[in-house]
Amino acid sequence: MRTRAAVLAGPGQDWDVVDLELDDPREGEVLLRVEVAGLCHSDEHLKHSDDARFPVVGGHEGAGVVEMVGPGVTQVRPGDHVVCSFIPVCGRCRWCSTGRTFLCDESPDLVGAMRDGSFRFHRGARDFGAMDSLGTFSRRAVISANNCVPIDKSVPFGVASLLSCCVPTGWGAAVRVAEVRPGDVVVVFGCGGVGCNAVQGAATAGAGELVVIDPVQAKRDFALKMGATAVHADAGSAADEIARSTRGVGADVVIVTAGVVDAEIITSAFDITRKGGTVVLIGAHDRSSEVTVKLPGTLLTVESKRVVGSLYGNCNPRSDIPLLLRMYQEGKLMLDEIISAQYQLDDVRQGYADMHAGKNVRGVIVHGD
Ligand SMILES: [Zn+2]
Ligand SMILES: [Zn+2]
Repeated sequence: MRTRAAVLAGPGQDWDVVDLELDDPREGEVLLRVEVAGLCHSDEHLKHSDDARFPVVGGHEGAGVVEMVGPGVTQVRPGDHVVCSFIPVCGRCRWCSTGRTFLCDESPDLVGAMRDGSFRFHRGARDFGAMDSLGTFSRRAVISANNCVPIDKSVPFGVASLLSCCVPTGWGAAVRVAEVRPGDVVVVFGCGGVGCNAVQGAATAGAGELVVIDPVQAKRDFALKMGATAVHADAGSAADEIARSTRGVGADVVIVTAGVVDAEIITSAFDITRKGGTVVLIGAHDRSSEVTVKLPGTLLTVESKRVVGSLYGNCNPRSDIPLLLRMYQEGKLMLDEIISAQYQLDDVRQGYADMHAGKNVRGVIVHGD
């Protein structure tokens, strides 16, 4: 069948919206009609990637309706509403079977092929990969059933699309990775789609002082709505405040969610953290091979600090997506507020321009026929 999708033709090129051919789902796969897709920074990082395969259909955040299932699919049925989790759960690999589904061996690589190495998107003789083997910037996509998490039909698709990536990633960084405790002093670098959820997670876990650093005024204002107790435009003034309020002890937890995470940010985060405290790194540099962690190892040792990477906030898509949606429905998690703008597929470039200009917490594409 035919579909329309926003694609990157090659490294350094901008998004183009093109018509593509889409294969039917094969064994273990489903055909998804994508209703809403999130404009995450990770897709934009692809543009500058030095190891991705092109051409590629963008989009790894999304929600939609299952239209067809391939042989052997038992998790979902046609008509089901699903979140496409960018983390699959095979249920059988070493990581899934030991409770670390976020490390599932079926997790995507930068080739964007399906599990068997083949592609479902084509244009003439050219195969198109899909971001994280999903490709939600396409109206229709064929994805693994292991990436589908069924949801209640009462959940709006926009809200559901946030559960693909940014909500579990941010919320989980505070709750599951850093294990924020009541009264903790927590600092969050960046208040975009991931950062604002780290703030919500820390707030619901009982953080005492909750400081957010973001250069954009609108995002600092938003951070206060999501539970921050103080906001700063730069790390220097935040560090001064933390030093004063903790009498030189430092923050218990620092979560780094900036759009582009570089050595300077990580070093500031490390310096703000107290002895025995935890720095959680989320987010990426444009070039995945860039060395961004340059820290005084002796201090890391003698101060027993922890610097940990975190994928998907150590969440389990199958249990945490329903949990987070329940919290939303009970009024304990703000999700509607996170969607700051809606775009049509043809306006994908504008959506990312607005993200770079700091206008959006999370912009989403609302697909139409
Ligand atoms: Zn994302
Ligand atoms: Zn697995």
